[in-house]
Amino acid sequence: MPSAFGNTMPYQADPQLEQFVRELPKTETHLHIEGACPYELLKRFDPIKHAKPPVFWNDYFRYQSFNQFMDLYVEYCSVFFTGAQQFHEAAKIVLANCSSQGCRYVETSFHLGTLLFIEDDGPTIIDAIRSAAPKNLELRIFAGMCHNDYVDAGKDLIEECITWNGLDGIDLHGPEDLPLEPWIAHVWDRARKNGKFTKAHAGEFMGSNFVDKILDELKVNRIEHGVRSIENPKTVQRLVDENIALDVCPISNVKLAVDGIESMSTHPIRKLFDAGVTVTINSDDPFFFGNRLSEEYYALHQELDFSYVELGHLASNGFKVALIDDSKRRSHINELQEYMIQYSK
Ligand SMILES: [Zn+2]
Repeated sequence: MPSAFGNTMPYQADPQLEQFVRELPKTETHLHIEGACPYELLKRFDPIKHAKPPVFWNDYFRYQSFNQFMDLYVEYCSVFFTGAQQFHEAAKIVLANCSSQGCRYVETSFHLGTLLFIEDDGPTIIDAIRSAAPKNLELRIFAGMCHNDYVDAGKDLIEECITWNGLDGIDLHGPEDLPLEPWIAHVWDRARKNGKFTKAHAGEFMGSNFVDKILDELKVNRIEHGVRSIENPKTVQRLVDENIALDVCPISNVKLAVDGIESMSTHPIRKLFDAGVTVTINSDDPFFFGNRLSEEYYALHQELDFSYVELGHLASNGFKVALIDDSKRRSHINELQEYMIQYSK
């Protein structure tokens, strides 16, 4: 079945699986708005460059390195986001697409550093994204920043963003192998004191030691990816004992050729799930992986033997970690449990 991005992925569902996943109440808690940029907007923006679908939509395409991925990110998507209007237009399509796939709750991030190059300020961008959400979708907005962003005007921007009312949280992203500079722990701590939720990318391109380092220094309780925690049983046990959740993006990990993940069938999410780690399922940068959230569920069912009941469990993890009050959480989880009754026998 063609994805929203016009290509065909290897993960196609039979009608029963397609319906089960579509109607399954679910969440998306790891989604970069720039990396989700709809192709139709890019084609309108630069019809010549985007005349043909990008090569990285090929099912067999693998990124050679994270640097190659980031270069393409700038070349294809960052150039499009020149103001609040572009964020609004992209968010409108992206969030409607999430809703059409059964998402009730979405966390999306934008790259904070973009604000250094555009006229509109942070609160304006946040409003532009928030006002694009369909009524039936609960949205949380995060600012993402890299390990080495705390310089010059970037430093002021980081200090400022943790005071913005409309911002729900901050996320550490970009290359993991850059030094974990001391400012990060200070800012993460102050952000939490200001009521912001904090998370960080780790355990994607660096191993389990880096996951431990992030937990020790940044004191987050949610990690983006974190899949290489599997390299050390002690780290896995720590995730369980300390109730740390991983926002996992399986197709992204395969296409970025994360160490130890040659194919979906070798993805560690099965072992992490079986060990009792709270894992959620997400699509990361769908423009760059040619994926849809639904396909992530198909892939887990088809290549890692996740049963319908287990897929329901993964979806409920999304509501478990969602930044919503407990009565809303209960109501989403009740809805999901009601839905699962027909598949639990
Ligand atoms: Zn990410």
